[in-house]
Amino acid sequence: MSYRLTPRVQPRSSPATFSKAFSVYRGEPPRLVVAMAAEDITRLTILSLSMSTTVSPLSVSMEIPAYGATAAKSPLEPLKIERRKPGPHDVEIEILYCGICHSDVHKVNDDWGGTHFPVVPGHEIVGRVASRGTSATRFREGELVGVGCLVDSCRVCPECRAGREMFCEKGVTFTFDSFDQNTKMWTYGGYSTNIVVDERYVLRVPKGLDTARAAPLMCAGITTYSPLHQFECKPGDQVAVVGLGGLGHMAVKLAVSMGADVTVLSTSRDKEKDASRLGAKHFFATKEPGALEALQGRFSLIMDTVSAPHDLNKQLTLLRSFGTMVLVGLPPSGAQLDAFTLVHGNRRIAGSNIGGVAETQEMLDYCGKNGIVAEVEVINADQINDAYKRMERGDVRYRFVIDAASLRA
Ligand SMILES: [Zn+2]
Ligand SMILES: [Zn+2]
Repeated sequence: MSYRLTPRVQPRSSPATFSKAFSVYRGEPPRLVVAMAAEDITRLTILSLSMSTTVSPLSVSMEIPAYGATAAKSPLEPLKIERRKPGPHDVEIEILYCGICHSDVHKVNDDWGGTHFPVVPGHEIVGRVASRGTSATRFREGELVGVGCLVDSCRVCPECRAGREMFCEKGVTFTFDSFDQNTKMWTYGGYSTNIVVDERYVLRVPKGLDTARAAPLMCAGITTYSPLHQFECKPGDQVAVVGLGGLGHMAVKLAVSMGADVTVLSTSRDKEKDASRLGAKHFFATKEPGALEALQGRFSLIMDTVSAPHDLNKQLTLLRSFGTMVLVGLPPSGAQLDAFTLVHGNRRIAGSNIGGVAETQEMLDYCGKNGIVAEVEVINADQINDAYKRMERGDVRYRFVIDAASLRA
């Protein structure tokens, strides 16, 4: 029987740490492993060990091709990873496409700290149901489905019951680089050929949407739909979208579809034509002198999608009274807020983080009805490293999507 060692242990962990981590498994750790040199542990995380010890059914697994990074900032490369065999409530999904989110790049670079390597990123997954467990009844084989940022949570805490699984009080399991309480394994994302997910966390992809272009809806779509929904974007509202990237272009499409009068604020005029094509009525290049002065007090909602450090106080002055500026990007350093600008006019600043399963399904259904999908550039797996480099210099219009067929080749 195959016993899977997963990247529960970071590279360069001491053998002692490894032994401790191993103890979560049933039975004694095999001596072979305890005696391994620390540098071998990384390699072990993606190899299986044969052993005769009794194992939990959850460790019964299948090996599949994937693309991932084995150390911070190292190039992504082909890997073999393990997926659990579908349990009673699971569906196994044959992945067709997976979008590349900026979070993927941050995780591979370990920009936020704590990435466990090897990491297989990807949480904008669209695929077809390949098989399902005996009690999985929500989907049938062949159905087009999606997996977004999360794959499990406790299901019973107030947040889970309210449909906000991403804030599960017991700890949500994200689609990749997240410790799964059930399998005791770190999760691997969608840069792979297959994924096994409890059907409760699987999304139905509406018919009629382009499959590759629907993939980014799973993260970029919900990340921008949710705040537009929370802050009640409605026809005639003056909405500004700051930054026209993966998130920003979805924010424009969605806000326009909700009837808002949308203004794009971008550093230069490079994307002015695109903004107009996406439905924005106005465009301002923020680096041009005086650009923002003309917009003081104009917007009821500002969707700030920028992940680089920038001046939030200047943007706050663009809000009308009781207007809200919502942050969906994650600049690495903290911002100084000017209380006077906030207090004057009862302006509000808010954050918004993805969305729960029900809201993500609602967003997909909405996109299905309104024909909304992302602007994408479909690539093969061996182009992922180039795509990362291009993303780091903002050279993508507007989402890279990996064709998972290239992983099977
Ligand atoms: Zn994402
Ligand atoms: Zn919960």
